[in-house]
Amino acid sequence: MKYLLIASICFCLLSCGQQAGSSEIQNAAHGTSDQRNQYYSRTDTSKLNVPDETWKKILPDSIYLVARNKYTERAFTGKYNEFEGIGTYYCAVCGNALFKSDSKFASTCGWPSFFETLRPASVIYQADTSFGMSRIEVLCGRCNSHLGHLFDDGPPPTGKRFCMNSIVLDFEPVK
Ligand code: FE
Repeated sequence: MKYLLIASICFCLLSCGQQAGSSEIQNAAHGTSDQRNQYYSRTDTSKLNVPDETWKKILPDSIYLVARNKYTERAFTGKYNEFEGIGTYYCAVCGNALFKSDSKFASTCGWPSFFETLRPASVIYQADTSFGMSRIEVLCGRCNSHLGHLFDDGPPPTGKRFCMNSIVLDFEPVK
């Protein structure tokens, strides 16, 4: 029992990092794409260089906490964790296309997980040594917002697991 508890704590630390309370994260004011901020576009792929203080003014607090302060939503609370819709996932901050639903898999980690990005340039990577761990942080390739982390325990064909926060994803179903 003791080892089970220790393993559970280790898993949580490895997977989560800094977690915000679910109430903080769940209160996101998700709007439709035409209600988004002035930088939001699903067609413009040009890089954004918007300072955090500007994002703080225009993003809902719950999105800002994850996207710019790198918080992690609590496991098994995100709206896309067990979601199986067919379509495309965009960055909730800037509208950049990130993942197709056919790359999503049923991970048991508690966060929506994908084995590949929509385009190589959909995301960028950064070493993350916070919390005494060595991880690969995944950020939006257009607006540099924090999305989650990349692990090497995903399924074929890539063996990768893009472990994402639902709050920074914006799903559009196939019409
Ligand atoms: Fe973005």
